[in-house]
Amino acid sequence: MKLNKIALWGMALLMALSLSACTKNKSETRELFAMDTYMTLTACGDSADKALDDAVRLINENDARWSVTRPESELSHLNAQKSAAVSEETKRLLGRASEMSAFTDGAFDPTVYPLVKAWGFTTGAHWVPGDSEIRSLLDLVGMEKLSLSGAEASLSGGAQIDLGGIAKGYTGDMVLSLLRKAGVKSAIVNLGGNVQTLGSKPDGSAWRIGIRSPYGSSLLGTVEVRNMCVITSGAYERSFTAPDGTVYGHIISPFTGRPVQNACVSSTVVAEEGATADALSTALFVMGPEKAAEFWKAHGGFEFLMLDDQGTLYVTEGILSSFTPANGGDVKTVCEIKR
Ligand code: ADP
Ligand code: MG
Repeated sequence: MKLNKIALWGMALLMALSLSACTKNKSETRELFAMDTYMTLTACGDSADKALDDAVRLINENDARWSVTRPESELSHLNAQKSAAVSEETKRLLGRASEMSAFTDGAFDPTVYPLVKAWGFTTGAHWVPGDSEIRSLLDLVGMEKLSLSGAEASLSGGAQIDLGGIAKGYTGDMVLSLLRKAGVKSAIVNLGGNVQTLGSKPDGSAWRIGIRSPYGSSLLGTVEVRNMCVITSGAYERSFTAPDGTVYGHIISPFTGRPVQNACVSSTVVAEEGATADALSTALFVMGPEKAAEFWKAHGGFEFLMLDDQGTLYVTEGILSSFTPANGGDVKTVCEIKR
């Protein structure tokens, strides 16, 4: 866990160096540790200073609301009591999570939480549960078990929720909205590898975002974007090796109850909205390269880049011209996905 955090911190520094965010004098940066990860917020302009202080406060509030490891959080109360009063913000996020679960035909499903715990991903005490335990925990999975009514949320049938696959992206959206309302025209926020941008760089050029390789601290390449989010789910964090040598990552298939075992090793989504990009990066990881391509063709509205275990990087046509692979990196072949 410590090592992961150090690696992430190094990555944040690398990104900060490679991005050279605001070129004019009036840029402000805040660094913080929240939602179990390192975050860097940079905004340009006269209103940046105060707006960033407000953004840090907002992130800490969201962490206190949505952490499953903090017993006092709204989410922990809901998971423990099965029915609880929730804030407007929590209700909205739960609503978004339900929508994304339906949109992805259940590949994104925050009710995998009992399985996340059974495999030890919450505590770091990893464990391979038996088949019968997995089968019985799968009965608890399904977002239809969540109901929202007035200011109250309820969970039926022993269901529990973990918003770790969407909360950072959603928080990034809230941060950018706060900055926009404060008059900021140019900003970049990096919430533990989830990068979200407001406008372009102050000189009008695109933001250049590094996509981290799942095999270490190197980059798969960079994408250039304006006003877009670039959000990655990788097998690099929180994975463990079982006694039989199998490596298990922290994204669980809601269909099998097991950590995803398909050809995907890293999935990056580029979209306007962070909540969408975050949930989709997790969902596409569950789908794997072929189903993810079919899903993109059927829906669109986002672009994605997915690395498979043979070193092929699948890139959708809308983002291909903005992508530059890293020299000598882990990408062996780039394969365009066309509509
Ligand atoms: P990270 O938050 O590590 O950057 P993700 O956005 O992909 O990565 O979210 C993974 C987290 O979401 C896991 O740690 C777990 O809490 C939760 N999760 C795991 N599998 C799923 C799934 N299929 N759908 C929704 N959430 C999931
Ligand atoms: Mg995600």
